[in-house]
Amino acid sequence: MLFIPRILKDIALIFTASGKQSFLVGGAVRDMLRGEQAHDFDLATDATPEEVSAMFRAKGRAIIPTGIKHGTVTAHFKGEAFEITTFRTEADYHDGRHPEKVAYAATIEEDLSRRDFTMNAIAVELPKGRVVDPFNGRVDIQNRIIRCVGSPLERFGEDGLRSLRCVRFASQFGFSVDKETLAAIPRTLSITAKVAAERKRDELDKIAGSEKPSTGFLLMEQTGLLHELLPELAVCRNVEQKGGHRFDVLDHSLLACDFAAKKGSPHEVRLAALFHDIGKPVVCAMNEFGVRTFYRHEREGAALAKNILSRFRYSKSVIDAVVHLIEEHMFQYGEDWSDAAVRRFIIRVGEAHLTNLYMLRHADAFATAGEPPRPDFLIPLMDRVDRVLKEKEALSLKDLAISGKDLIALGVKPGPRLGVILNELLEAVLDDPELNAKEKLLEIAGKMEGGAQRSLTPSASPQKM
Ligand code: ATP
Ligand code: MG
Repeated sequence: MLFIPRILKDIALIFTASGKQSFLVGGAVRDMLRGEQAHDFDLATDATPEEVSAMFRAKGRAIIPTGIKHGTVTAHFKGEAFEITTFRTEADYHDGRHPEKVAYAATIEEDLSRRDFTMNAIAVELPKGRVVDPFNGRVDIQNRIIRCVGSPLERFGEDGLRSLRCVRFASQFGFSVDKETLAAIPRTLSITAKVAAERKRDELDKIAGSEKPSTGFLLMEQTGLLHELLPELAVCRNVEQKGGHRFDVLDHSLLACDFAAKKGSPHEVRLAALFHDIGKPVVCAMNEFGVRTFYRHEREGAALAKNILSRFRYSKSVIDAVVHLIEEHMFQYGEDWSDAAVRRFIIRVGEAHLTNLYMLRHADAFATAGEPPRPDFLIPLMDRVDRVLKEKEALSLKDLAISGKDLIALGVKPGPRLGVILNELLEAVLDDPELNAKEKLLEIAGKMEGGAQRSLTPSASPQKM
């Protein structure tokens, strides 16, 4: 018997009142048995979607036909959303071959037999709490093992998403994968290849979002999934590095991603950590001293990451953020940086990305030596950046003491030349913030125009437009 939250007992009454069965199934049961909080409630029932809709509407509850062709409706009940699915004989196969059809099953046991892993094939009858566990999922959860329901080769052959789900769950829960289940993954890669990019992306995101992403990515490598999905990362294996590096490029990348995950870094930083060095195998060369070099790998890596993320249909904002972080990750701060250099660094990185870039660099440094970097290694730069930001000096065109309108008022023709002058003025101000005064800037602008336009003199009184 399992502790059944009040809300589940209450919703079950709607089913029993109509003489129908309801079971809690899927991730919620698994997570409760793992001693974790269940995050979404999926119910299975012998009532058809039409019957479920009628039952809830009769109680004044809204029902949304979210996946009606798969037999699923969503009910909102006491502030929670419940996905209610009629017993089914088949899962939705993600292999590009099966038509999207649904066949209803007569019993919960039959419904459970179509599910992917034993830990996901346990049902709890509501409201009583009787556990239905025909594939001994509870034992596997206790032993922390992921095992297919039935023949792994058949299950992975039916649906190429399942093998990815398998390594994803291993990464999320730190479970191991049953031998036979693991052995079936390399043999069904061609089925996984057919799965829609968005579905693969969701699994990759869950691996990257797990506590120790390397668990999932190493399992992917071991089973050939990494080569199938992320060949650019797979070829980082055995690319050795010199200097302070202890690891090859793949292990270094995974360690960086783990570090970012451990520090609770945002998703973009985890992805950037994973991909920050994928340019290295491409640009790897030998210098005259027989030492490997990776010049410009950040630029190559940014281009590769853009390809990868686009391939998996990531949003433009995620792609831009990750690519930018990778492109900028090689900054080399030294005390000899002038204030102007610090200001240019802030502009290049963008204020909004600074914290993420520091996190990436921290992860990179950790993954180089395999031990925590000197805690203060970024602090001198961070301090100087903070100081510059506090001084509120001009860092962009909008901070300049004059605008395009001032220049137009003084006779510069609207057009590209205007932008060139403003950017030159910003450059001057970055070097010397004292120049950011209207008269001084007008004087410089006048000189830039070679005195050709007499009106561009400091004495000319600018008209406001
Ligand atoms: P999560 O915690 O990520 O939500 P979950 O196990 O609940 O994990 P869902 O995608 O919500 O995953 O699916 C709910 C249930 O449906 C699963 O527990 C499993 O029983 C079944 N299921 C989902 N996807 C598949 C699949 N591809 N093949 C077979 N059964 C599946
Ligand atoms: Mg779920």
